[in-house]
Amino acid sequence: MIAGIPESVLSLAYLLAAILFIQGLRDMTHPRTATRGNLTSAAGMLLAVGVTVVWFEIISPVVLLAGLVVGSLVGVFLAVRVEMTEMPQLVGVFNGFGGGASALVAGAELIELQGGNPGGAIPVDVGIAAAAAGLIGAVTLFGSMVAAGKLHGVIGGSAIRYTGEHVVKAVLLGVAVVAGVYLVVQPDVLSASLQGSWVPSFWILILAASLLGIALVVPIGGADMPVVIALLNSYSGLAAAGTGFVLNNTALIIAGTLVGAAGMILTVIMCESMNRSLLNVLFGGFGETGSDEEMPDIYEGNITETSPEEMGILLDSVNRVVIVPGYGMAVAQAQHAVAELATLLGERGVEVEFGIHPVAGRMPGHMNVLLAEADVPYERMKELEEINPTFSQTDLVIVIGANDVVNPLANTDDSSPIAGMPVLNVSEAGTVIVNKRSLSPGFSGIPNPLFAEDNTFMLFGDGKATMQAVVNEYKESR
Ligand code: NDP
Repeated sequence: MIAGIPESVLSLAYLLAAILFIQGLRDMTHPRTATRGNLTSAAGMLLAVGVTVVWFEIISPVVLLAGLVVGSLVGVFLAVRVEMTEMPQLVGVFNGFGGGASALVAGAELIELQGGNPGGAIPVDVGIAAAAAGLIGAVTLFGSMVAAGKLHGVIGGSAIRYTGEHVVKAVLLGVAVVAGVYLVVQPDVLSASLQGSWVPSFWILILAASLLGIALVVPIGGADMPVVIALLNSYSGLAAAGTGFVLNNTALIIAGTLVGAAGMILTVIMCESMNRSLLNVLFGGFGETGSDEEMPDIYEGNITETSPEEMGILLDSVNRVVIVPGYGMAVAQAQHAVAELATLLGERGVEVEFGIHPVAGRMPGHMNVLLAEADVPYERMKELEEINPTFSQTDLVIVIGANDVVNPLANTDDSSPIAGMPVLNVSEAGTVIVNKRSLSPGFSGIPNPLFAEDNTFMLFGDGKATMQAVVNEYKESR
């Protein structure tokens, strides 16, 4: 019994926290319940942290409360200030802090265990867990900072490749592993020889792993960072689980494992949706190619333009419309104008659905979140498998700021970087209108033959301004 509370209370609180984490994750699998899932998981974490702090008498409840207030204020500030398109890098920063905290707590526990006694033994299982937490945590911290920096444009977003990069990574990994093994096998010898009460091999491991985190992410192109951030999210969970073993803390082990597994599942889903292997993302240098001058001119003489006025007239004669949003809708913040158009069409008896590709935008669920923000009902948002068979019965598809996810080259060109990626077969519809600012490529850097097809009309312009102009034209058309 500590702080007058029996240990069974601690165990029960941890069990309840674990149930809340799992229920929260379950709720997060659907947009409608996702907000509740976030709150449920946060409640679980609050319970776990609160009980731990009080039970182990780490800090007084007043200090805990003060920490909660400060943390909440920072959280609210970030939630309000950070744009939706900047979420991936914010998540990256959070992952990094999580990994760094895990590494530091593991190190602090080693210091505590040795307790000023250089010869003090560290149990083997604790040594292994601390080495794993330190390695993964430091890689996560520094890798996430580089990833977030690339996404935010603070550091160059292009893939930086150099001769011998794999050797550098292998050497750093080797140093970290050797330091980790040394920590496990004979933690006392080196400490004793240096007359320190800490474990130098652990900090050598941290240094090598920190450099490794930078070396791993620097050669990956900025456009692949969302996948890297999902992977680092998984790592941050694994590091936390490792620290949970160091501290023998069940709640941390469970929370860390859940984050590790969820992050890994998300990484795999993203890779599958892009039809790429994780190794190709990490070592392939995707997104480096595709500058304008390399492109064959498949557009010359084959592009038909349209205008908001013409589109307003066309909309008067359609019965079924599918709207396909992409990254450009997020950049333009055009979701409200798009939602207004969908509502107007619905009011005039037109059937309107949204075709959502799993990797449209730059983060999983990007389009769903934006459309939900603009009050588009979830029932209207259809996934790729559901919407694809309906295009042949659709009068008009409006593509807004999407490019790769509607590129037929994925089906026809085996050498294309998006070869095999499932795409939305929009050209099966009667008419396709594509709104974007130019003929520039999307994320994959390749041209899109859809723009040159007979039933495609290009509506050039910024997504928000153009969609608003279409809404105005459509309103005036009756
Ligand atoms: P793309 O990146 O293929 O294309 C976006 C298009 O939006 C561009 O061609 C651009 O053309 C246009 N655009 C940019 N700004 C505006 C604006 N203000 N108004 C109108 N249009 C604009 O996006 P998609 O959503 O089609 O595809 C996503 C890509 O990202 C896929 O290749 C996917 O693999 C990749 N990816 C997705 C991840 C995810 O989790 N969702 C993660 C990692 C990668 P223009 O400049 O001419 O306007």
